[in-house]
Amino acid sequence: MLSGNIKSAIGLGLILNQGIGDTIRVSLTGDPVEEIKSAKLILRTLGLRKGGIEVVSCPTCGRTSIDLIGLANAVENMVQDIPLDIKVAVMGCVVNGPGEAKEADIGIAGGKGEGLLIKKVRL
Ligand code: SF4
Repeated sequence: MLSGNIKSAIGLGLILNQGIGDTIRVSLTGDPVEEIKSAKLILRTLGLRKGGIEVVSCPTCGRTSIDLIGLANAVENMVQDIPLDIKVAVMGCVVNGPGEAKEADIGIAGGKGEGLLIKKVRL
């Protein structure tokens, strides 16, 4: 539930960001699995939890020609239990997607009938 997530993020985030508390419980109306996902994301966003793949995606625009929301959700579900501390970017086009994904460790950019997988090389 969107409003529950936002209220939890702001309420718990403000407290945790001040160093208050060492446990977190998110209560949402719905699947309890979503509560855990929200809690993990709040902690990771605050830099209080390491590990786990962070999935980011572009906001979409007129160039988007794939089901980016479906793809981003699928990628997020696929990687949720992988304990790597990396960022994966899911982008909606092969024109600007690779450039916009340059801060990520792995980028996925999709277009009509084509797709790119980009791996950042660490020097
Ligand atoms: S990556 Fe492509 S589809 Fe996504 S916002 Fe940028 S230009 Fe638009």
